[in-house]
Amino acid sequence: MITINHLSKTFTNPDGTKLQVLKDINCEISKGEVISIIGPSGTGKSTLLRAFNMLDAPTSGEIIIDGENILAKGYPLNKLRQKVGMVFQSFNLFEHLSILDNITMVPLLLRNITKQEAEEEAMTLLRKVGLAEKAHAMPSDLSGGQKQRVAIARCLAMHPEVILFDEPTSALDPTMVGEVLSVIRQLAKEGMTMLIVTHEMKFARDVSTRIFFMYDGYIHEDGTPQQIFENPVHSATKAFVQRIHKLVYEVENSDFDLLGMHTGMAQFCIKYNIAQKYEAVDVIVDQMLQQVLPGYRPITVRLTHSEQLEVTALDFMIRDLTESPIAPADREKLSTIKYPFSLVEEPTKLGFRIKVVL
Ligand code: ADP
Ligand code: MG
Repeated sequence: MITINHLSKTFTNPDGTKLQVLKDINCEISKGEVISIIGPSGTGKSTLLRAFNMLDAPTSGEIIIDGENILAKGYPLNKLRQKVGMVFQSFNLFEHLSILDNITMVPLLLRNITKQEAEEEAMTLLRKVGLAEKAHAMPSDLSGGQKQRVAIARCLAMHPEVILFDEPTSALDPTMVGEVLSVIRQLAKEGMTMLIVTHEMKFARDVSTRIFFMYDGYIHEDGTPQQIFENPVHSATKAFVQRIHKLVYEVENSDFDLLGMHTGMAQFCIKYNIAQKYEAVDVIVDQMLQQVLPGYRPITVRLTHSEQLEVTALDFMIRDLTESPIAPADREKLSTIKYPFSLVEEPTKLGFRIKVVL
């Protein structure tokens, strides 16, 4: 139904510098698919949706819907707007129009229907999103969640073939996220084709037929929710879905600023809500660097924490080493540490890694 070929978008800043946000986007989307687009911020997710809807014309490439390239010169914008609906983070309702008029305005202009037909259909859609009683209210009378449900009804009033959602719940108070997601879930059940940029991972996992992980201007990984969340192929995808945070230090020699490293690690633990683990991190780093591995420099120390898996680990990596540097006597020293941890010792491509899992 939809094919995107070699889509790219480069922004030119006022000072003349260029930023290529979309590098080479290719995908095929079938009717009825629900695709969640996930990825770190700044990776072009909004730009992709805006290119799709010609809110920002792409630099090159094709978007083919029903056999027609909507980016071709002369393709009527009105026709595009009918085929492709968009729901924004900030609702974008017309503040001076009633809810009913917000929904009927564009269909009255673009679809060949009477006012009565438009209003009847608008009422049906308002019922569908649970807001029939608000038909004559003004947007300012509604909560954020209600406004977003109106925005969805307004989009449906155009009978789009595909709806694009750009973080539809991220401007909402947390109590209102659910009511909007449940409307989107309902549309998915009815077979609506949708592309949804979202940070709601649980929702993305439940509702989607496919997930696109955007990274570095590409669809870096494309797969079923199960693949992407349980068996990601690429390390960037894994880091994102498991919400892995990391802090890395290269301890070159004895001049290294150990106090600075301890401070950095303390801040990391506070930031990711694992302050209770900081003492263990502190003791283990000292023990390893000063008692167990004093003769091994340079050494790379890496602190990682996965919010998803709730696992914190300290890695000590030594280059060009093939066997564990931990002597039997050191093992005993480590066993007296009063915090629970497990030790994984393994050779890597570059050397040897000791992983201490807290
Ligand atoms: P995401 O939605 O994934 O967070 P965006 O698509 O909003 O990312 O933005 C990707 C990059 O493009 C960012 O670095 C952003 O600053 C830049 N960008 C977005 N819109 C414009 C614009 N109109 N002009 C210049 N740069 C832009
Ligand atoms: Mg965005």
